[in-house]
Amino acid sequence: MSNRRPRDPNCLFCRIVAGELPSTKVAETDDLLAIRDIAPRAPTHVLILARDHIPSAADLDAADGPMLGRTFELAASIARDEGIAEAGYRIVTNVGEWGGQTVPHLHFHLMGGRSMSWPPG
Ligand code: AMP
Ligand code: ZN
Repeated sequence: MSNRRPRDPNCLFCRIVAGELPSTKVAETDDLLAIRDIAPRAPTHVLILARDHIPSAADLDAADGPMLGRTFELAASIARDEGIAEAGYRIVTNVGEWGGQTVPHLHFHLMGGRSMSWPPG
């Protein structure tokens, strides 16, 4: 069962999705909002937020498949629009403290415009 919670009034990304806090919108669908990261770590650094309050990728299940498909479809479309599709890019979602997650609301980092190192730090 999905661990989906109603909008959390104290959640930064819930507040951005609700339009209570400002963001630079890149694209959107019924269930996703793509915005520019406020502290970009690459020339293109877009965050794809679930509109639902889902704490992290650890809370996803098979019922989220269509939403996840749309996430990667949107990421590919944004990558084309940003001109990074041909060179390649990275899609990352961090989970929990050691995964580097600082905002507990599901989001995918779409990063490109420079060569990425592997493994990440
Ligand atoms: P993570 O650390 O993986 O949870 O990613 C959170 C990301 O949100 C970081 O890359 C932050 O720079 C970014 N961020 C934090 N606050 C904002 C904001 N108000 N608008 C856009 N991006 C933000
Ligand atoms: Zn939230």
